[in-house]
Amino acid sequence: MLNREAVTTLTDLETHMVYTRSESGVIAMKVPRQIRTYCPRCRTHTIHTVSLYKKGKERALAQGRRRYERKKKGYGSQPKPIQRKQAKVTKKQVLKLKCNQCGHILHREGIRLKRLEIV
Ligand SMILES: [Zn+2]
Repeated sequence: MLNREAVTTLTDLETHMVYTRSESGVIAMKVPRQIRTYCPRCRTHTIHTVSLYKKGKERALAQGRRRYERKKKGYGSQPKPIQRKQAKVTKKQVLKLKCNQCGHILHREGIRLKRLEIV
């Protein structure tokens, strides 16, 4: 599908992030591999390495999982609805910033994006 919407690109001079915008919002973002930003542990600005946050593996013995398994046991239907129709086509991308001096990792919550590139 060809995007015929007007697409503009703008650079945030403070964070060096490059946004690509269309009329429906930001569709793509380019993030530099290294960002100089505030580290709460060092209490000063340091260089941070950027990576993308990914959801971890679910624990089989977590309280919520155990409760759900118990509820599903035996006769009876599905106790909770399973979400099948997703309204959103994008996900909010969270950046993981790791301080190069102390190793402290902080998350920076992002915006809804179709594409995120770490350059
Ligand atoms: Zn630090």
